[in-house]
Parts: sequence; C-alpha cells; structure tokens
Amino acid sequence: MIPLPSHPGLSQGIRNLKGVGQQIEKALYERGLRTVGDLVTLMPSRYQDRRRLVPLNELVPESEVLTGGVIQDTRQGVVPKTYRRYFEIILYDEDAQVSAIWFRLPAHLRETTSKGRRVILFGRVQSYRHRLSIVHPELVPWPDGYLPEAEVRPVYPEIEDVKPGALRRIMAEVNRQLASLPAIFPHAWLMEKKLSDPVECLRILHQPPADRPGPLPKPQDSKAWANMALFELLFLQLALARSRARQAVREGLAFPERSVLAETFLSGLPFELTEGQRSALGEIGRDMAAAKPMSRLLQGDVGSGKTVVALAAAMTAVDGGRQAAIMAPTEILARQHFETLLPHARRLGVEADLLVGGLPEAEKAARRSALASGRTRIVVGTHALISESVEYESLGLAVIDEQHRFGVGQRLALRAKAAQADMLVMTATPIPRTLALTIYGDLDISTIAGMPPGRKPVRTEVFGPEERVAAYSLLAAEVAAGGQAYVVAPRIESRDESVDGNGDDLASAMDLLDYVRREGAPGAPAALVHGRMKPDERQTVMDDFRRGDIRILVATTVIEVGVDVPGASVMLVEGADHFGLAQLHQLRGRVGRGERPSLCLLVAGTDEAESSSRLRVMAGTSDGFELAEEDLKIRGPGDAAGLRQSGLPGLTWARLPRDLEMLLKARELAREIIDNDRELAEPSFKLVREVVDELDRRIQAELAEAG
Ligand code: ADP
Ligand code: MG
Repeated sequence: MIPLPSHPGLSQGIRNLKGVGQQIEKALYERGLRTVGDLVTLMPSRYQDRRRLVPLNELVPESEVLTGGVIQDTRQGVVPKTYRRYFEIILYDEDAQVSAIWFRLPAHLRETTSKGRRVILFGRVQSYRHRLSIVHPELVPWPDGYLPEAEVRPVYPEIEDVKPGALRRIMAEVNRQLASLPAIFPHAWLMEKKLSDPVECLRILHQPPADRPGPLPKPQDSKAWANMALFELLFLQLALARSRARQAVREGLAFPERSVLAETFLSGLPFELTEGQRSALGEIGRDMAAAKPMSRLLQGDVGSGKTVVALAAAMTAVDGGRQAAIMAPTEILARQHFETLLPHARRLGVEADLLVGGLPEAEKAARRSALASGRTRIVVGTHALISESVEYESLGLAVIDEQHRFGVGQRLALRAKAAQADMLVMTATPIPRTLALTIYGDLDISTIAGMPPGRKPVRTEVFGPEERVAAYSLLAAEVAAGGQAYVVAPRIESRDESVDGNGDDLASAMDLLDYVRREGAPGAPAALVHGRMKPDERQTVMDDFRRGDIRILVATTVIEVGVDVPGASVMLVEGADHFGLAQLHQLRGRVGRGERPSLCLLVAGTDEAESSSRLRVMAGTSDGFELAEEDLKIRGPGDAAGLRQSGLPGLTWARLPRDLEMLLKARELAREIIDNDRELAEPSFKLVREVVDELDRRIQAELAEAG
C-alpha cells in the first residue's frame, strides 16, 4: 500500500463523508479504513458493465448484462424435489425471450411485475433446460422513450455490516475527493516516461469511463492497475535508493585494511576459511576500510559459515578502536554466538558481553553501562541492543544476523544508532533475487558460495502420516548408534478441541516428548525446548543437548534459525507439510554439521498428494536458493519467507514474481531520479517527496510493531 501526499481531502476521517454514519464508520474502522486516503486504496474487485442495453436476442449464457423488455407472463410455482417456491416473469421483445426468477420476491417488486409492463433487468444470464434465465436480477421500471445512462459500476469487496450499495455511494464520494487532488508527478516527467499519474490511475480504477467501447477488463488486468503496480514499486525503490544515496555521501569510519586482531582471530580457528568465506570477508574488509558507512548484506546458505566472517569483521572494528554489536533474532542464537566468541575474545584480550531481554534488570543495567563507558568492545544480543536505553561509546560495526527475522525498521533503527557505523546484515534464507531487489534495494550484496569442506549431504526422506513409526525407528537407530536428534513439532501444546479428534491434528511438542519417551525412542534421554519456557531453563536444556547429555531434543521452531550443534545428526519434522520449504530448509540445516552422515525425516500430517509432492522437492535438492524460488512459486510472495517478514508494507497492486520486469523498471526509474536529485528537493517533485517521506515513516513504524 502506498501512501498518498498529504491533502486535507484525504487526511480527513471517513465520518466526514456523505453516507458514513456511526455504524458504517465502525465497520470500516475494523478493516483499518480510517481516512478518506485509506478508502482510496480500497480497490473494486470487479466491474459491472452497464454501458449498453443488450437486446434479448443477443443474450448469451454466463454473461452479466443489462437488458429489458415487456413482461409477457408471470408464474408462481414449486421446484420439484426441493419444494422451493419461486416466482417467474417472462420477458419478450420481438423474437427472443428470457425469464427472471426469484425464490423470494421483494415486496416492492410485486406491483412492477404485472403483465404488459416494460422493465429493465440486470443480472447474470444462465441457461437452464435450454431456456435463458436470470436469477434474482435487479429490476426497474422502463418507461417508454427513456434510455438508461451508460455506466460502469465498480463492485467493492464485501465488508461486513456495510451494504454494497451504501459502500458504492461512499466510494463515489471518495472518488470525487480524488478529483480535487493534484497530480503527484510532474507533467513533463510523466510525458517523457509515457505514464499517467497515480491519481489519474486511481480515479480510473474506481470509475472506469463508460463512454469507451470495447471489452471491459477486470480491475487487476486493466492498464490503470498495471500503472499503479509500477508506481507502488517505484515509491519503494525511491525510498531505498534515497537511503542508499544518503549513505553514500555520509562520512564513515575508515578501518585499517589489514587488521592484526582479525588475523590472529582467524589463525586461532581450528579450520581454514573456505574460498567463499575469504572472498566475502575481502569485500567486507574493503568496505570497512573505505571512509563511508558500509551497508552490506551477507547471504550464504545454512551452514556456510557466516558467523566467523562476522566475528572477524567485529575484530577489525575493535582493532580500529571501535565497538561492535552483533544482533540475533532469538536469545538462544545470541547466547550461542556469544559462546562461540567468548574463548576467542579471552584469548585476544577483547572484552565481550551478552545483552538479552531475559537477564535480571540490574544485570542489564550494569552491562549497558559497561557498553556506554566503552569497556565492552563486542556486545552480542537480541533486539535489546537497539532499545532506547542502550548507548554505545563508539559503535563502529553493527551486525544483524538472520536479517529476515527482523523488519526493515529494525535495520534502520540500528543504522540510526550509529549513522557512521558500518553495517553488515546476514541471512541464510536465500532470498530469491526478485525479492532481494525489493527488500534490499539499499544494500550491497555478498554471497558465500560453497560449504566448509567435509560436509556430508543430508539424506532427506518423506513419510506419510501412517509411516511415522518407520521414521521414528530410523531416528531411534541413529540415536542408538551415537547420534543426536531434533524432533520438531508445529506447536507447543495440543489444542483442547483436538483431544477428541475434532480439531486439527497438529502434533504438539509436549505430546511428542511423551511419544518419544514411551515409544519413539525409549531409553534415550530426551527433553523439550520451546519459546514459552523461561530463558534460563531453555538455556540449560540447550547446554545439555550441546554437551550430549540429552540425546533427543523435542522442539518448536525456536531452533529454526542459526542453532549449531555439530553432534546432531537427525532432524525429524512432524506435520512437515505445515511448514514452508524455506523453513524446512532452515530446519534441515541444523544437522549435517558434524562427523556423522545425517538424516532429515519429514513426516507429513496429511495424505494429500500436493503436500507430499512439495515435500519431495525437499528430498530432491539441498540448494537453498533453488528451494526459495520453488517456495515463491508455490506459496506466492505474501507467504514466501522474506517478504512478509521483511517489514515492507504489503503490496496492493504489484505481484511478485509476476511483476519482476516492472520491479526492474521501477528500480531503474528510481535510481535515475535519485541520481539527479538525491533528496527529491526539486519543487516539481515535492509531492513525490512527501509520499516517499511518509513511506519511510511507515517502514520505521514497523519497528514499534515488530519490537
Ligand atoms: P551459518 O552460515 O548457517 O550461520 P555457522 O556460522 O553457524 O553457519 O557455521 C556452521 C558451522 O560450520 C559451525 O560449526 C562453524 O564452526 C563451522 N565452520 C564455519 N566455517 C568453517 C570452515 N571454513 N571450515 C570448517 N568448519 C567451518
Ligand atoms: Mg548463522
């Protein structure tokens, strides 16, 4: 949804509109429609073509028409079998006829529907027993010599408690307000790009002209809609391009190109960096050495080894006399990173600390002050790191791990904490290029190609609901042979209604723990971890699992991102059809990190062919990018990992990946505009700037919601 420039007509509450009383106001509020500007973006779902009165002899089944004639006969009857009473009128004009049928005739129609009257009908023509009929048509008298006005009538989505006719009249009023709005883009620019202004497009979408001949497209297929899709993407790209351009001129910190501390850190690791890690680190190092703030996305498939790259960058920042902050989406992950870091930090004499929400208040205060005084050089934490009470003495590098779990707002907030700092965001959700362009238009992208050596491919097998015993016996055998296992459940507790088998039958983590202990793998130490446990309990369980004291960890998706326990060699996912491919890929990435050949067992909750074929895609490839593209195809952009969590306002007109070409065009147009006029300061772009400013504000506001 793109905002419109501020305008008194649009910012007023809907109550000021003719036809909106208390009840309708309430109903629209519940839909999030509060201002006239909000209503402007409520799109018709279709149009009724009332441009022409269609003669009876031109009626064809399945068309929606305005037609008319003289009532030749009326009948009442009862439908055989169903005993439904009906009322029928038969119209004729010269050589053709049609019947109109009502199963309940509105009282006011009784008088209009007597024989010999001329009437106009509007409705959908059906063919029933070789006769054309219209069920429940609209009917109005048709006096001689009178011709109805040509009209294209928008039909809006149904809103509870608002009658369609009332909504239509309100929307007509909204459209009148739109008419008083100036164009957003300068005329010359629109001419050059051969585009019509968004305001014009919106007016046409709400009320297509009735005087144009030819077929009437659906709203989504109309030219005006396509234009709006382009503008929607253009505004997003303008916001991103402007942020990128502002970044480019900002004075940043120049860190040394070679950092002894980072090199000492790397040489203390038990392994060599892979080629992919080395080249990504090279790009990061060059960015950090340049005197402008880095904004870089580090993409790398699950397990490609992003953490050490981030830690090396943090050491570089510390070497340059600055602090580094590493932000993770969950406490489990923040603690894990901290534990990875700690021995190295000690070895190198670097003061490191952990800051997460779960700590006692006094403890948090102490850690915050160590950060503010500059004693702490590297801090690892959750989004607590960007809370207002956190101050840094001299933040030089901000790392955001698993960026897709945070909103764009959080990225911008961290950026705002230290405008000069370098920023590295990391993601293992391989975002298809299509989406990467939308979400990360303001970032440079590095990709870690390849995996650390010695990784054994994870064997993936799909099981139907009746085959779960077989899945568990594979799991039990692997655990007996010295492996460790995750069992992932779609939810924590069973729902009451599913006790009697009437609810959905998603396995719950609690029930699964029971099952694992009794039947699945009796005798193996098993425990539970989920998001509603206290952080320290959760940590104890994770530690026990990491040490190998617990052999089977039953979990919800709290373990989805980033968790790294090399001893784990089996991942069993219950209700696997319930997860997206990208998510399953993340889960599968928890195993295959150690010496043992690993297994991923996907147990479907249903027998549906569609879900099992989707799961088989998992078995067919271990390439996260390939899966992400598949996921996008299957689930659409709204649900595919990344976009919904990206913090971008939902799209109303554009559809990805369908509109990829348009996205590329929008990006090009945006860069061209921003290259000429970074701040959109030109007077003719004043309204464009207003929209982009508002969009920025909305993206930022996302922060408040996500936090
Ligand atoms: P991700 O990219 O998914 O965040 P991690 O950073 O958690 O991956 O790394 C996964 C595992 O691979 C960790 O146990 C890490 O120590 C190990 N690892 C990272 N780089 C290498 C390497 N070059 N050689 C061998 N093992 C590595
Ligand atoms: Mg990671």
